[in-house]
Amino acid sequence: MTTAHRSSPWLMLAYATLLCTAGPLAYSATEVNVYSARKEALIKPLLDQFTQETGIAVNLVTAKGDALLTRLQREGRNSPADVLITTDAGRLYRAQEAGVLQPVFSEFLDAAIPAHLRSAEGYWYGLSVRARVFVYAKDRVKPAQLSSYQALAGPQWQHRVCIRSSSNIYNQSLVAGMLATQGADKTQAWLDDFVGSFARPPQGGDRDQVKAVAAGQCDVAVINSYYLGAMVDSTDDAEHGAAAKVALFWPNQDGRGTHINISGAGVTAAATHVSEATRLIEFLARDESQQWYAQINMEYPVRVDIAPSELLKSWGDFKADPLAMTELGKFNTAAVMAMDRAGWK
Ligand code: FE
Repeated sequence: MTTAHRSSPWLMLAYATLLCTAGPLAYSATEVNVYSARKEALIKPLLDQFTQETGIAVNLVTAKGDALLTRLQREGRNSPADVLITTDAGRLYRAQEAGVLQPVFSEFLDAAIPAHLRSAEGYWYGLSVRARVFVYAKDRVKPAQLSSYQALAGPQWQHRVCIRSSSNIYNQSLVAGMLATQGADKTQAWLDDFVGSFARPPQGGDRDQVKAVAAGQCDVAVINSYYLGAMVDSTDDAEHGAAAKVALFWPNQDGRGTHINISGAGVTAAATHVSEATRLIEFLARDESQQWYAQINMEYPVRVDIAPSELLKSWGDFKADPLAMTELGKFNTAAVMAMDRAGWK
């Protein structure tokens, strides 16, 4: 009896070990290596779900978007990465140009993701949409005073606007979009005036611009939509408090629509697990993933048939600029040069 009593926990442990190893052994037949610029908490649950359903193990490396691109370039053909997940079409295009992505063909992805939100050759696919919007001080600005990015360069906005530096890809993509749609002369003229609207030398991230508006340092800021969502939901009093003092405005609704961008993914040129990698991107584009991914990141689903979260719905519908994301990449270098000429630090 005593022996049986003592051995039973060991027996149970042995059974448990058998059960546990049966899983991973079966799984380890296939795997996929992911480099992600999205934080682990924002992507890991989805990847776990993918493994559970497909038996394909996912090895995840997270880092900043630019660092991951540098790493992929340095590792070259020896890179263990199969998939790159990153934000901004400008970055995805850079990765494509740097030769670290390969085109993959997927009927599902081509059908599910609107053509302007993916590379035409299959180098990268948009997975979520963000908009570059205005937030304004509710006590000092009336929405009727606002209209477009272009108008924000007008004399009435002198020293009243907060925006981050020109080294930031979100601003580069905003200007690249203007170059693509309005041409070099108009864009340069706008930039030359727009720097006069800056309330302070560009500094900080998008959340800092919201805080500056709340603190009265400026009246309007240009930020990516999901930051406002994150601040509204934040448990940090300073962030939540700042978000409560501002409201969102959709720019350019009478023109081409608000400038949008994507987060997305592509299969790396060095990938040794191409079919698993493609399957993972397809998984991220399916209904349930789209809903979860957009919601957790406070972004819009890339698919038009999937509804955004309640918070995003509360901001109302908006018209998005239909410009192809590829153009943001093509005009990136010209955008950086134009911003530099205008003295946008
Ligand atoms: Fe961001």
